[in-house]
Amino acid sequence: MLEELKRFEAEVDTALKGVKDPEGLEQLRLRFLGRKGRINEFFKRLGRLPVEERPKVGKILNQLKARIESTIASRRSELKEQEVPRIDLTLPGRMGWVGHPNPLSLVIDEIIDFFVGLGFTVEFGPEIETDWYNFEALNIPPYHPSREMFSSFYLGDELLLRSHTSPVQIRVMERKGVPIRFIAPGPVYRVDKFDATHSPFFYQIEGLYVDQEVSFAELKGDLEAFAKHIFGESVRVRFFPSYFPFTEPSAEMSISCPICQGKGCRVCGDSGWLEILGCGMVHPNVFKSVGIDPDRYQGYAFGLGAERIAMIKYIIGDIRLFYENDFRFLDQFR
Ligand SMILES: [Zn+2]
Repeated sequence: MLEELKRFEAEVDTALKGVKDPEGLEQLRLRFLGRKGRINEFFKRLGRLPVEERPKVGKILNQLKARIESTIASRRSELKEQEVPRIDLTLPGRMGWVGHPNPLSLVIDEIIDFFVGLGFTVEFGPEIETDWYNFEALNIPPYHPSREMFSSFYLGDELLLRSHTSPVQIRVMERKGVPIRFIAPGPVYRVDKFDATHSPFFYQIEGLYVDQEVSFAELKGDLEAFAKHIFGESVRVRFFPSYFPFTEPSAEMSISCPICQGKGCRVCGDSGWLEILGCGMVHPNVFKSVGIDPDRYQGYAFGLGAERIAMIKYIIGDIRLFYENDFRFLDQFR
């Protein structure tokens, strides 16, 4: 029987080495170790051996059984490591998700592109400003009632969140001098409610053009070209007098309502016109605050709210949609 066990051991080794998958391994396990398996057969035959041989053969049989068990266990983990994940090639593909700019960024980029085409550069300034840059240098002294329309959030006595991008005018003229021609896009802050048409935070785009002979006619021509670029060639513009402390004369510009073509609708309040920006010729006091001689230089300035332009262009009824990051809204502007 010892001879037979040796042959069996060799048979087991070859079989376990050659097995290729977990199912085959399980079949071998049953064949060798199962209730009706080969090892149990040997144990049954043990009783027929002479008494003095039984302990010796029994011991060998037990060792062999233990060895087969451990070999099967290690083969099982080997096979598991080699297992290739199953790929179902018939599954429908998953679309790669491609991001795209917020409609507000699209409009800001379009406006920047237009003015860059006219020779403007792009400048930026800090969002936390001092009272000097936000107000005084722009001809808004502490007692001036117009501070109310630019009411902002203060950080202590001297610092505040800028309430317009106009401080960038002062900073850039100080840094680079004149002549200068740039736009300054960026966020601004006002004490305001947060509803469909108001927000305490919005994007403004400031424009400044200073040289020795800059006229109001140029201001009108450039802004009319801008309106046609954004809203289409058929749009008409209208200027009417206004007041800003940092420009003199000051004006506001309206465009013929692109939704009803000026006939009157809910969006334009039946007037046929939509106001889109404020502008004017730079006030001499602003030049004086940065040491520029107002008798030598003149310039025009304008400021517009990017949200307002985007809301008219895309017919969006609620300013809050720009900031909520709702994909149902954003996906419409791919
Ligand atoms: Zn209208």
